[in-house]
Amino acid sequence: MIDQAEALEIVLAHSHSLGEEEVPLSSSIGRILAEDIRADRPFPPFDRVCMDGIAIPFQAYDEGRRAFTKAAMAAAGDPQKELKDQEQCIEIMTGAILPKGADTIVRYEDLKETADGFEITTEVKQGQNIHYRGEDTNQGDSILKHGLRVKAMDVNILASVGKSSVWVRKQPKVAVISSGEELVPIDQQPEAHQIRRSNVHMLVARLDELGIQAHEYHIRDKESDIRKWVVDILNSHDVLLLSGGVSKGKFDLIPQVLEELGVEKRFHFVKQRPGKPLWFGTMENKRVFAFPGNPVSTLACFHAYFVPWLYASLGLEYQAIKVKLSTDVQFRPDLTYFAQARIWQDEQAVTWAEVKHGGGSGDMISPSTMDGFVILPRGKEEYKAGEVYLFLPFHPLCQG
Ligand code: AMP
Ligand code: MG
Repeated sequence: MIDQAEALEIVLAHSHSLGEEEVPLSSSIGRILAEDIRADRPFPPFDRVCMDGIAIPFQAYDEGRRAFTKAAMAAAGDPQKELKDQEQCIEIMTGAILPKGADTIVRYEDLKETADGFEITTEVKQGQNIHYRGEDTNQGDSILKHGLRVKAMDVNILASVGKSSVWVRKQPKVAVISSGEELVPIDQQPEAHQIRRSNVHMLVARLDELGIQAHEYHIRDKESDIRKWVVDILNSHDVLLLSGGVSKGKFDLIPQVLEELGVEKRFHFVKQRPGKPLWFGTMENKRVFAFPGNPVSTLACFHAYFVPWLYASLGLEYQAIKVKLSTDVQFRPDLTYFAQARIWQDEQAVTWAEVKHGGGSGDMISPSTMDGFVILPRGKEEYKAGEVYLFLPFHPLCQG
């Protein structure tokens, strides 16, 4: 049995790049860029008027002129106009290109309309209300970097440089597999001795939040069944997340069959609670995480091992969240304790965690009222209020 930190190190040592693929812009949200994006034009691409009003030559204003006759109208989308006469203005709209011969925009709020034009009613500064060509970035400059997670505002940038498709890092193909004779499909009424196979749905939902469309399977606690299915599923996936059948029971056959199939065991049993029977193995570029079936154990192992593996494989820095314990916590077993907790931020922006001992690893109701797990490393029995520990959030928004 190994330590939790050591188990995590082994898992991370087996992270690897999954390659790159081109996806339509509409599917790029949340994905990791696999190309540098450069500005195909300056930003903005022309001297852009940014107020509705009139365009004037500042020199005329500076020499004392306040009334300007209207020579033309320029809307956004019109080709560039030209102002030829110092006594005239062009009525102009936000988004239009600055006319030749004009260098200053006066907004409607600072104008009085006259019979043949406009009169300026306030002080004007040369060059005001213009967003100059290249002010934000020059043509050819790198504007989004390789390795960035695409957010909605990045989609805006990608669209503006004409990227209707974009290269991103590939997500792993993940299979989620439940095992156990007591499990029935969720649309089936269980007999007294049966339960619905809820875990896999939780994992598929959590993967969906991470942008991964997983496939879902069920295998029986029978060697032949495990053998047949696992070989098949391994062929078509990068990662297998198994739930159940990895402990010391007579029908916990998963580890043995996996090894017989050539999946190399990297560790089995970790000094942690919940999730002690966790099994992790590799076969070439395939990764197999076999979680114990209790819902809280599955959840803890998923967050403590699979999520960091995924981040590392996508080349992302996993930003561990740190929290302070709000009360003393006692935990005597010589195990790392994934303690369920609620978190909140105080006025000084310190994040506090209040540990709530749930009803054990089979209590699937408790986590839904919690925000995540505080990791209390083994080696002591008492964890003091105010001490700082790492936190594994249940919710994806908490992660970078
Ligand atoms: P196991 O890890 O197979 O020994 O299962 C431990 C406990 O978790 C048992 O009570 C199982 O019934 C339960 N369990 C296993 N798999 C699932 C699942 N997919 N959904 C809900 N509970 C499960
Ligand atoms: Mg079982």
